[in-house]
Amino acid sequence: MTQDKVAAVQAHLPPRGEFVIRDAAIISMDAVVGDHAQADIHVRDGQIIAVGPRLAAPGAEAIDGTRSVVLPGFIDTHWHLWNGLFRGLVSYYKPELGYFPMKALLGKLYRADDIHWAVQRGLAEALNSGMTTVHNWAHNIPSPAHADANIASHIEAGVRGRFSYGWAEGQPEGQPLDLADLERVQREWFGTDRAHLLDLGICVRGPETRTPELRRTAYLEEFRTARRLGLPITMHAAQMRAAQSQAIRLMAEDGLLGPDVQLVHCIHASAEDRRLMAETGTHLSISPLIEMQVGMGFPQTGEMLEAGVLVTLSTDTVAAAGANMFAIMKMTLDVERGRTESTTLSARRVLEMATIDGARDLGIDGHVGSLVPGKRADLIMVKFDRASLSTLPQADWASLLVHHAQPANVDTVVVDGRVLKRHGALTAIDEAAVIAGAEKAVRGLMQRGGLLAGH
Ligand SMILES: [Zn+2]
Repeated sequence: MTQDKVAAVQAHLPPRGEFVIRDAAIISMDAVVGDHAQADIHVRDGQIIAVGPRLAAPGAEAIDGTRSVVLPGFIDTHWHLWNGLFRGLVSYYKPELGYFPMKALLGKLYRADDIHWAVQRGLAEALNSGMTTVHNWAHNIPSPAHADANIASHIEAGVRGRFSYGWAEGQPEGQPLDLADLERVQREWFGTDRAHLLDLGICVRGPETRTPELRRTAYLEEFRTARRLGLPITMHAAQMRAAQSQAIRLMAEDGLLGPDVQLVHCIHASAEDRRLMAETGTHLSISPLIEMQVGMGFPQTGEMLEAGVLVTLSTDTVAAAGANMFAIMKMTLDVERGRTESTTLSARRVLEMATIDGARDLGIDGHVGSLVPGKRADLIMVKFDRASLSTLPQADWASLLVHHAQPANVDTVVVDGRVLKRHGALTAIDEAAVIAGAEKAVRGLMQRGGLLAGH
């Protein structure tokens, strides 16, 4: 039954077909394929066939790549797609309208259909900014219907990703997430015959709280179940100073860290925490736009890299900042340089974090994250025909992309060989319908939350 549902929600996606992008600058993010000042990339049935100058590709549709740079699609590694409907409602300048109060108030009022629109709206924004993979960090699943709506909506958008199954807003501290439903979801949506681009993981609250002992039974059971089911785990950690930042040490003591674990933020991690993460192969996702905005602190980009931790980039929530990987890369780079009074971190390195390292984090680097023949075709074409970008031939494309490019420069987005953005417009998502659906959902939530009184 679910396979039929997958086919139905994907029916509107464009076919994969065959095309060749000609005469573009190419940043492959692969040492062997290398970079090309002017070359072609040939794609057939979702796979990269060849990268190089003057490729013979008879019968393939030709796409003009002049004045463009082609690179792997951006990979977001942590994004609470469901709460993007709070955009414009959340204010950091009125405490009662802060992100956490709004999440506590409105999170409980979500209907499955609201999740559908939130995910559609978020993934439309992702595609517009050149993201081809999104880690859908679903930490509000009050019922199986909400899980299904979230997964179906992600598949419908055609964006690659991981769906991390989480708890419900307001769930008691000692109660694990709905592990029986997690197993159902794995069985129904993520079997070996899956015909979509989503993987499954879990997100947990873990010991990141003032009273970790209350949660311990729950998170131990969650970790046990995830590992029995072969699912990767993600968790916020070391977001706050002092007592609340014991999470990494507590996890290490219970033997919970490992290469199947992604920690998020780790702003206040200690040198010992970093050592534990590196030693166990635990990954880190940072969200510098949100970390800076909410006053959480500076991401430890350099310290983590130096310790040997895989560091990747994420949106976190679009309630408070845009899903804009160019802005995220620039913030990562500039904050690190300013904070450390050093120019060690380069635009090129940050571009790696946003592409191939993101793929490594999500365990999909064998398929995507770099432009290599045999890999799946997840790529973007950034066009230099707007005033915001130089039209001169560039020696340092990475620098131009990180310091100057904007989502509006993303001309073409290809996910698994499907062209989902072309000439600056989405091809499969009806943006007007998504905006209307999301607006209706927001009004409903506000009404149920008593936020429309007096209007
Ligand atoms: Zn988060």
